[in-house]
Amino acid sequence: MLSNTELTGASEKHLTAVDGHKLHAGAAEGYLAMQKAAAANGLELAIASGFRALDRQLSIWNRKWRGKLPLLSQHGEQLDASALNDTEKMHAILHWSALPGSSRHHWGSDLDIYDPRPFQHSERKLRLVPAEYTDADGPCHKLWQWLTQHVHEYGFFFPYARYQGGVAREPWHLSYRPVSQKCHQQLSLELLAETINAIAIEGKPIILDNLVQIKNQYIDTITEDDG
Ligand SMILES: [Zn+2]
Repeated sequence: MLSNTELTGASEKHLTAVDGHKLHAGAAEGYLAMQKAAAANGLELAIASGFRALDRQLSIWNRKWRGKLPLLSQHGEQLDASALNDTEKMHAILHWSALPGSSRHHWGSDLDIYDPRPFQHSERKLRLVPAEYTDADGPCHKLWQWLTQHVHEYGFFFPYARYQGGVAREPWHLSYRPVSQKCHQQLSLELLAETINAIAIEGKPIILDNLVQIKNQYIDTITEDDG
């Protein structure tokens, strides 16, 4: 079980280094076994993002709120932050970015993966859009197809395999169930409220007013499938 500060991304004691990123020790073991199996099948598996700290998630949130980072609609079109009310702005951010303190990336159990080979010796940059994974000619398609068949053998699943009215579809996001399931159960409404209260977050009143809905729609609504 993680401590409250580990669970909300404020401490890194639960983490270990893997390929230049940080993961929970259990997840790291599962990841390395999966990477080895992928390699045996001619595929290269790399981490785009592992652990993300509370401060980093807070900075993303606040910059989006202030219009310093692009705020996107569900269809990926840029929104004018100043034209939205606080509730609309909050939901627009939550579609793409986790509420600070509630990111599954805080736990070290979750990671974003990609196939590095199409990007080597190329101008091409990973954008983390579904088409890169799900389109037959996408750079990460072969890897994604293999993962949808095999992640469960290594303890992983795809929590954002489909859009269900909360977080956008993220075919690159994997979760190590033996760790994340416990973390998810442990993340209470009280701890979330305590965390939000303690940080300098934009939109704090509206977040606290809507915390039950946020938890239900964006934190508790995940896909349980393997692919
Ligand atoms: Zn992710």
